Amino acid sequence: MSARILVVDDIAANLRLLEARLNAEYYDVSLAASGPEALLRAEEWMPDVILLDVMMPGMDGYEVCRRLKANAATAHIPVVMVTALVDPVERVRGLEAGADDFLSKPVDHQTLFARLRALLRMKQVLDAFRLRAETALGLGFEPPPPPPETVAGASVLLATEDVNEAELLTGVLSADGVTLRLTSSAAQAWQALAEGSFDLALLSLSLDGGEGLRFASRLRAQAATRDLPVLLIADADQRAQVLRGFDLGANDHVLRPVDTNELRARVRNQVRRRRYQERLRADLDRSLELAVTDSLTGLRNRRYVTRHMEGLLRNGSATLLMLDVDRFKAVNDTYGHAAGDVVLKQVALRIRALLRAEDVVARFGGEEFVVAMAETGVEEALQIADRLRLAMADEPVQVGPDLALTITASIGVAMSQGSETLDQLMAAADTALYRAKARGRNRVEMATPEDWQRQQGQGVA
Ligand code: GH3
Ligand code: MG
Ligand code: MG
Repeated sequence: MSARILVVDDIAANLRLLEARLNAEYYDVSLAASGPEALLRAEEWMPDVILLDVMMPGMDGYEVCRRLKANAATAHIPVVMVTALVDPVERVRGLEAGADDFLSKPVDHQTLFARLRALLRMKQVLDAFRLRAETALGLGFEPPPPPPETVAGASVLLATEDVNEAELLTGVLSADGVTLRLTSSAAQAWQALAEGSFDLALLSLSLDGGEGLRFASRLRAQAATRDLPVLLIADADQRAQVLRGFDLGANDHVLRPVDTNELRARVRNQVRRRRYQERLRADLDRSLELAVTDSLTGLRNRRYVTRHMEGLLRNGSATLLMLDVDRFKAVNDTYGHAAGDVVLKQVALRIRALLRAEDVVARFGGEEFVVAMAETGVEEALQIADRLRLAMADEPVQVGPDLALTITASIGVAMSQGSETLDQLMAAADTALYRAKARGRNRVEMATPEDWQRQQGQGVA
């Protein structure tokens, strides 16, 4: 699908011109002739980038940008301000309204397309996170709130060969609460990246005698630094390199002599975007964690352990312990469901405490637990199972101040023989568990050759 660009301008001729250019590059274009129209269109059409004229009667571009960024539905859409005003003060105003970049009129098309590609790539990454977070959290999903306006606490890597520039930028940015790490060569910068974590890299194109782009490209090539935002510092005659830099993955740039207010605003925008992305990532990690965790006990859930056992079987060996609490229904019936829950949590703790980190312990459902292990001898498996059994029976579970319950569990053990399916392995463990129950409970039983044969005879799938 081609990217969607919303073009906003009060002069029809400007709209037509940009529309034609963008269409020629196969972008999907929509037009708006005023601020209020742009706000409506942005929310209903969800463009990937907005090209926004600054000077418009009624609501000007700054106000439109501010409103777009204040609305959670449109805050993530990159905004490029298109302006005839070259005054740095105006640019800073726009950046403070939340604009992602500027293009001056008349629009240079090479610059326009380089910026669009860079912004679209960045948005694609963000969108992928947003979508995954949404999918994982289902209907409960709420987009994270916009990150704070301030950059205080951010950590920035500065790589420039120019010591005066380093000093100037340090002064300006540390006044905003940014911590800077100064480096003057690519080698030093790599060292710093290996030692610390950063929210942004400020990178001079003239680093190492003009090899700044090589550094930018290496940043993108390595997994650890791929998502680090990069802001280029360039000389006025390095325009071609800046464009190349955007295609290599740089996020933004400033030109020398550096206007310090513009730099501050651009740094702030990059840091905010970075923080937003980090928040999405954290949400995603949390939702993935939730998706594989049993909420009552904190153990892995059935879905996770099933996958895990399939993996063990593919690698050639799996040992499965299936543990079921004895006469658990009576606990619920006599002391209530809440008391039952306390018992289940305690059972989970006791199992987990006895096993190695690499063994997966899961609550399979109800009062049934599963331990999945790789490469275990028969003796060892039986020993572990019996230790588990004793860990339940030996010490009563303290359910309340005056209530301690003695609980026991029965355990079925099955070990893969080489070519079984997961269903066969589970059925064998289940048969062994059933025998442990039938023979009086508080017992361990190992799946016998007959158990395997029997279920093969029954064609258990
Ligand atoms: P057996 O020794 O044969 O295993 O008997 P049992 O009573 O343990 O087995 P049964 O399967 O008849 O009962 C299991 C009970 O576990 C029934 C169900 O209400 C209860 N249960 C299932 N999930 C939960 C839970 O999350 N919390 C609580 N408190 N009880 C649960
Ligand atoms: Mg039971
Ligand atoms: Mg049961």
